[in-house]
Amino acid sequence: MSQLFNLSGKTAIVTGCNTGLGQGMALGLASAGCNIVAVNRRSPEETQRRVEAMGVSLLPVEADLASTTPIDDILAQAEEHFGGADILVNNAGIIRRSDALDFTEKDWDDVMDVNLKNLFFLSQAFARSCIEGQRRGKIINIASMLSFQGGIRVPSYTASKSGVLGLTRLMANEWASHGINANAIAPGYMATNNTEALRNDPERSREILGRIPAGRWGEPEDLAGAAVFLASDASNYVHGHTLAVDGGWLAR
Ligand code: NAP
Repeated sequence: MSQLFNLSGKTAIVTGCNTGLGQGMALGLASAGCNIVAVNRRSPEETQRRVEAMGVSLLPVEADLASTTPIDDILAQAEEHFGGADILVNNAGIIRRSDALDFTEKDWDDVMDVNLKNLFFLSQAFARSCIEGQRRGKIINIASMLSFQGGIRVPSYTASKSGVLGLTRLMANEWASHGINANAIAPGYMATNNTEALRNDPERSREILGRIPAGRWGEPEDLAGAAVFLASDASNYVHGHTLAVDGGWLAR
């Protein structure tokens, strides 16, 4: 059974893994034997140290995923250093909070560009490289509770994460026959930079915590198991699914 989850010799591109959930998933994949191509705006020093301590390699690639410009270079570096990537974790994401009545076009475009547009075009480049290299591929998109719910004061985030769920299904429909699994993980309310404002607001924090059946905020390491499952042979017949890792939030 452990062979099903073994990622030895595999390579994963993980975006936004210098901190937070991306770091938690990169460490999970590394612990299953996977090399990491770490795509970040700045050096992922802590992640690199912890990944290398597990005896696998981490290649840092500096890229700002606000634009599609770095995408070809990311794939080229993965090819050059590891002979290509087997897994893509589209984790990098941002959020902007403001009442819908006041929401600006800039806050709309900034969030949609990172969370949705570049997730799609990086996935497209990855899928092309898998097909050309005749490799199986695993795409793991990071969705949200707001792929299922409306949210409050985060219009572009809700639009982008609802889009991630739909695009995950589209990718599965088009690429499953090429041996590529496209799935998503929808984290619940997790203790990272993304939710700092919520956790610092005593009223919102109390409301959120009171609604989580598990009775706690999620931690980055809570995503490791789901990431390894969706990256490994254990999920070879799982396509287009969005797996909630939410302490039971959606069950309420
Ligand atoms: P985080 O700590 O803010 O991490 C976000 C990551 O994305 C960081 O590494 C960040 O890099 C990177 N990033 C942002 N913009 C980028 C850009 N233009 N180019 C390259 N990298 C960029 O938040 P997180 O909670 O771990 O978020 C990770 C993912 O989970 C996001 O997609 C988020 O929407 C999703 N999510 C989070 C929660 C939650 O409760 N925390 C729930 C559901 C979904 P920098 O450090 O340079 O900013």
